Amino acid sequence: MGLLEDLDRGLFDLVFPRDCAVTQEPMETSERLHLSAAGADRLDRITDPRCMCCGHPFEGVIEGDRACPHCHELHPAFGRAVCVFRARGPARRIIHRIKYRHSPFLVDDLASVALADDLFRRHLAGSVLVPVPLHPARLRDRGYNQAERIATFLAAHVPGCRAEFVLRKQNETVSQTRLGRQERRKNVAGAFVVIDGKPVDPTTRYVVIDDVLTTGATLHACALTLRKAGATLVDAAALAHG
Ligand SMILES: [Zn+2]
Repeated sequence: MGLLEDLDRGLFDLVFPRDCAVTQEPMETSERLHLSAAGADRLDRITDPRCMCCGHPFEGVIEGDRACPHCHELHPAFGRAVCVFRARGPARRIIHRIKYRHSPFLVDDLASVALADDLFRRHLAGSVLVPVPLHPARLRDRGYNQAERIATFLAAHVPGCRAEFVLRKQNETVSQTRLGRQERRKNVAGAFVVIDGKPVDPTTRYVVIDDVLTTGATLHACALTLRKAGATLVDAAALAHG
């Protein structure tokens, strides 16, 4: 279905020239199809200092150990999460289009810009990327899993990476968007399982991939599932931190 969408989009582009998803200006010649250089510049990037656990940026002067409000009480099953953009402004709007307005074609462009981030590329290098799965009912509604598409794109462009769809979501959870931190953790606890027959290797480094890290509850639940199946090296990454 994703491929058909892309083909449709390709035909559409022949008739109507493409505009940048951020600036709305006509696209210049670019390796990306829907995100111009000027548009990419407007995405709010995360820079150091940042939380070594969830990747949330710290603002202002940091002295000593700084408690991160996003990781507070999370004790995640993943070692470190790295995110590239703040989930606000244009980056938030692009992710919203990807998730709720059937725009899978924006995934590759956003992931492509993310790969210009040196820390993000190094964080992924040489690992097995495991996308957060969607419940089959949600997948039917949306037509694609954006996390799978992100992982596939990243794996194709980062040396030594491959994407493996190891997990499945067995419980349909309610949307997390209106839930608080504790409620999110309860909501996704036990929601994910390793797909029957998929091996989990204790010597492989896995990086769980999602579009947005908000409280870290979903990435934690996926990482915990991998660990219970025998993984010992589990990290996480998302395009944006919300
Ligand atoms: Zn944190």
